[in-house]
Amino acid sequence: MGNITLNLKSVTDDLKEGVRLVAISKFHPAESILEAYQAGQRVFGESHVQELLVKQQELPSDIEWHFIGHLQTNKVKYIAPFISLIHAVDTPKLLREIDKQGQKNERVLHCLLELHIAAEETKYGFSHDELMAFLEDGEWRTMAHVSIDGLMCMATYTDDEEQIRGEFHLAKQIFDEVKERFFAEQPSFCELSMGMSHDYPIAMDEGSTLIRVGSKIFGERVYA
Ligand SMILES: *Cc1c(COP(=O)(O)O)cnc(C)c1O
Repeated sequence: MGNITLNLKSVTDDLKEGVRLVAISKFHPAESILEAYQAGQRVFGESHVQELLVKQQELPSDIEWHFIGHLQTNKVKYIAPFISLIHAVDTPKLLREIDKQGQKNERVLHCLLELHIAAEETKYGFSHDELMAFLEDGEWRTMAHVSIDGLMCMATYTDDEEQIRGEFHLAKQIFDEVKERFFAEQPSFCELSMGMSHDYPIAMDEGSTLIRVGSKIFGERVYA
């Protein structure tokens, strides 16, 4: 067995009930994805539109592609025909564009809203207050070609496990609050995407349903 097959198995052996693996293949070649595919993996995540389009063309058509990175509004149209899940919707404007492109493609596009919980000052994601204000505003209810299936977040990049655990715990609390207040009648709101190579066991303990694992399966990324 190749390394990728072995690494993949060690991650899938760890999966808790109710948790799915998104294998993050960004910056890794199609052959690496194919090895994971041949070992049974079907869900892959990419974070750059151009790279995703090339891989989607050349790899098997039953792969379920997820977009996990920051998505620019003007690029939604390229992935709208085939994308299975957009993990990191971080503005109302982006969600409006996703709805528009869903309509054009006559399909409902599945999305997660990105919650900003890490201590780091990144530009992306809704704060708790922004998220509640956006959901209360209700515009999203008019978007017939969008399905909000849950939340996504990233913990602070640190070795401090208690900090990571605290952040994932908070994300799960916010997920439960949002579910109860806005999606109680919608079983499709069920995904909490959290956990990467270095923190996915903690994320699963805290209630993740989708883990996004890259380097632990494919090795370190080489940036061109
Ligand atoms: C790259 C990336 C991952 C995977 O990171 P690894 O540390 O390689 O597992 C997960 N989520 C997002 C949003 C990413 O950009």
